[in-house]
Amino acid sequence: MQITRRNLILSSAAATLSGLALPRKLWAQTTLNMGDFEVMTLSDGSLTLPADFIFGPMDDAALAPILAEAGVDRNAPLTPPCNVTLLRKGDATILIDTGAGFAFQDSAGQLLDALNAAGIAADDITHVLFTHGHPDHLWGVLDDFDEATFFNAEHIMGEIEYDYWMDPNTVNSIGEARAAFAAGASRRLDSLGDQITRISDGAEIVSGLRAKLTPGHSPGHMAFEIASGSQQLMIIGDVVTNDHVGFARPEWTSGSDQDEALGAETRAALMDQCAADEITIIGYHLPNGGIGRATRANQGYRFEGA
Ligand SMILES: [Zn+2]
Repeated sequence: MQITRRNLILSSAAATLSGLALPRKLWAQTTLNMGDFEVMTLSDGSLTLPADFIFGPMDDAALAPILAEAGVDRNAPLTPPCNVTLLRKGDATILIDTGAGFAFQDSAGQLLDALNAAGIAADDITHVLFTHGHPDHLWGVLDDFDEATFFNAEHIMGEIEYDYWMDPNTVNSIGEARAAFAAGASRRLDSLGDQITRISDGAEIVSGLRAKLTPGHSPGHMAFEIASGSQQLMIIGDVVTNDHVGFARPEWTSGSDQDEALGAETRAALMDQCAADEITIIGYHLPNGGIGRATRANQGYRFEGA
């Protein structure tokens, strides 16, 4: 269900309350508290991707035992979940990424239903932060009328990422496989116009929440860090896109990164930091609502769900 203008939101909510809606569905929703932040992840659904989207550049002989241990079939399509993070602190209700919307894959684009199930309306959102401009993170930003889905929110994206997708050359330089990403991102960012604010590495969004440049998966990918007393949380977006080889060998190049060498370097450094400092992580495509820890294991790391 893709909800559009405000009046349709109201009528849709009324239909749900009247019991005429489809059978009740259990929405994936996971919560924790981090100091004075309430943290929740909401499911936007899942994606279906060819296995080579991640494994393409890897050495199959070295990969085989890692996938065997994780119970992953090298040749089966990947079906990663999509976890949107919601933070509440004081008057701020902050969404990190907007899901895929209605135009990307049928198995994704369920964020508004998940928010509704959590009792949160689109107009409650005060800030929308983007980790990056790929379809499963950005395309839910507009409704069917090309208006902002979260119409009261300040939208915030890293300046390197914004400039990359708004560059008219990107659609030609990004490669055929991702050309639709470029066209889709520039159209949506253009529609947002001055509703979007650009930030740089280290910017503080609200007190205690900072952006951290983590490039490679996309040119200006941002993670978001919360520090509250001795507790730390890092919303890592797509720095690591799976809970098997991405943890076991973060330094290996992955087909899911636009700059594979830089993506691997960023991933290895972030994994080292998060394990050493016992930082709770939220990964957009990790299981268990995406929330857990990276712990050291064998030659690499393991994802331990919270
Ligand atoms: Zn993604």
